[in-house]
Amino acid sequence: MGKIGVYVCHCGTNIAGVINIEALRQYAETLDDVTVARKDLFMCSDSGQEQIRRDIREGLVDRVVVAACTPRTHEAIFRSVCESAGLNKYLFEMANIRDQDSWVHSHDPEGATEKAKLVLASAVGKARWLQPLDDKFVEVTDAALVIGGGVSGCFAALELANMGHKTYLVEKDPSIGGVMAMLDKTFPTNDCSACILTPVMVDVAAHPNIELLTYSEVEHLEGFIGNFTVTVRRKQAYVDWQACTGCGDCAAACPAKADDEFNLGLNQRRAAYIQFPQAVPKKAVIDMNACINCAGRKIGTAPKINAKTGEPVLAPCEKACKAGAINRSLPRDAGGELLRLNVGSVVVAAGFRVMDKHNFPAYAPQSPNVISALQLERLISATGPTGGALLRPSDGGKCKTITFVSCVGSRDERHHTYCSGICCMYMIKQARLLKEKYPDLNIYMHFIDVRAGGKEYDEYYTGARRLGINIMRGKVGGLQTIPGDRLRVLAYDIDQLESVEIETDLVVLATAIEQPESSQKLARTLGLQLCGSGFFRELHPKLGPVETASRGIYIAGCCQGPKDIPYSVSQAKAAAAAAAVPLAQGRVRIDATLSEVDKELCSGCGICEPLCPYHAITRVERGGRKYAEINIAQCKGCGVCTAACPSDAIALHGCRDEQILAQIAALTA
Ligand code: FAD
Ligand code: SF4
Ligand code: SF4
Repeated sequence: MGKIGVYVCHCGTNIAGVINIEALRQYAETLDDVTVARKDLFMCSDSGQEQIRRDIREGLVDRVVVAACTPRTHEAIFRSVCESAGLNKYLFEMANIRDQDSWVHSHDPEGATEKAKLVLASAVGKARWLQPLDDKFVEVTDAALVIGGGVSGCFAALELANMGHKTYLVEKDPSIGGVMAMLDKTFPTNDCSACILTPVMVDVAAHPNIELLTYSEVEHLEGFIGNFTVTVRRKQAYVDWQACTGCGDCAAACPAKADDEFNLGLNQRRAAYIQFPQAVPKKAVIDMNACINCAGRKIGTAPKINAKTGEPVLAPCEKACKAGAINRSLPRDAGGELLRLNVGSVVVAAGFRVMDKHNFPAYAPQSPNVISALQLERLISATGPTGGALLRPSDGGKCKTITFVSCVGSRDERHHTYCSGICCMYMIKQARLLKEKYPDLNIYMHFIDVRAGGKEYDEYYTGARRLGINIMRGKVGGLQTIPGDRLRVLAYDIDQLESVEIETDLVVLATAIEQPESSQKLARTLGLQLCGSGFFRELHPKLGPVETASRGIYIAGCCQGPKDIPYSVSQAKAAAAAAAVPLAQGRVRIDATLSEVDKELCSGCGICEPLCPYHAITRVERGGRKYAEINIAQCKGCGVCTAACPSDAIALHGCRDEQILAQIAALTA
């Protein structure tokens, strides 16, 4: 049956603090076919690994069992130790005596040691039946897809493109830029956000390896690492973007209005509009929900003819467009256009939204003078609705007093328990910018506490205190509207141990960063999981922060969790590097622990086909027979089909019947 080497790990005191390691090692020596039983302080350390290699090279063992932590993090490491010593890596088995034993039975060392013996015996039992297996390989399409064109998506796309890979960047809005394009200045350096972002956006659009698909969304994704097929819907812009020069004449001529999403409803835009002045690409779109079809110019209908002049009567938008980009006579599909892309890897950088103030009835959401911090960014931006002047939304009057409220919806059991991470910093930034511009402005800030954990962030915060900004620790209980469109802030000052009431012109709510409902749809489309907090789930919080459980799909930026720009950019670059690995290699290795159909035994009944959660099984007909075929790149080795097959025709390599029975026998002996 082979020569089995057993290697027991102390894992410092993680295991050895509870389990009697020497007793376990001695027990291993009593098990059938065990030729070597050793222990080490850290089996995954250099010396621990070398011990295993030496025993393999010296012919003492031809199967390896490591009793240590979890295969989730360490199986791959020990498999490659075996491989590097010339042993097939599938002749390895792991006994989890840490996560499933010492950690959960720390109150009962004796019981934990007895359990460890059973777990080890079961692993050794299986090891006797292990067989060498060969990894498989699949070819890779050398192209990547990035979803979301905020700062994270832009950097992920640029990195991939700079590495020489064709990259599709899909953005749902008409322009890339995301939230950073809406910001006035950025902490902790106060650089102008547009000044640092716009050149990046221009680089993205100009890069020969990047195909920019804005005003587009991913509708469907199928396939597997190296070979994804993506269906993208390009929304109908009702403007010929090839011809549009971005002059904005159509918007100037259009009489119909709708809330301006870019300025978060602080003003209105036209039905024909360009998303914002620095938009990339700078192209107009017509919002058909707002368009009033001037002159009866419904899309796809012939114009009326002016009886006097004999000229066609055009809508203002098409009349204004010197480039001929708007022709309302042309029929256009309201659903836009479907595109099919083939890519090898995907980076999701779909960002975040800020909570709406109407979720907080205690904070007078009906008052136009209660705004979100993102609205304040637009209000103080030179390209915003007031040209950068701090004016009250209710009447355009000047503000003498402004109040900031932190943690609105964050760190709050009723909404989100997490900290939104960046609100303290951006509020301090906004307060500093306002104080520098309006030295007489009274600024009050209410924090539970200030979190300024990044590089040079705390210095930035203490700088704000020196500017004469009133910073109070304590929660704001509510807001009251008072005559003159003003507001009364009802708060508590923890340091003074007293209630405070402040009358103010404008209240800024730092509403929590969260995921929109659309993330659930996107996650379903891509086969990804979301965390309890709603953000996209990474493979491992520490060791796999940009990978996901779906191989070939990576995440970056605020869709993974709240974060500032430097952190978003770092993560975007990391995700791009990870996504580029399969593209650069040209083929990907597929683990051999997969299901395989024995064609002779398969009756072609098809029971397994709908059961596979990864859609890896199809029934094929060849040589006059039907049988199931498994796509190795899609199979995750879950074993559902193996258990369901009435003909016993599907084997799951690495989990075969005889191996499982040997484990059960050891556990029940
Ligand atoms: P986003 O900027 O949200 O970009 C995501 C992009 O994906 C968007 O363009 C969106 O339209 C697109 N998208 C979403 N879903 C889809 C889909 N299904 N298909 C296609 N496209 C999609 N950070 C700092 O470092 N300094 C600051 O001064 C600062 N100030 C801030 C002030 C405020 C008020 C706020 C709210 C945040 C601030 N931040 C600041 C944080 C900063 O905005 C974020 O770190 C940054 O925007 C994250 O970028 P992102 O690309 O991950 O997400
Ligand atoms: Fe605006 Fe043209 Fe629609 Fe008239 S027809 S509302 S000008 S987009
Ligand atoms: Fe584009 Fe024509 Fe509008 Fe100018 S007028 S922005 S060219 S559609």
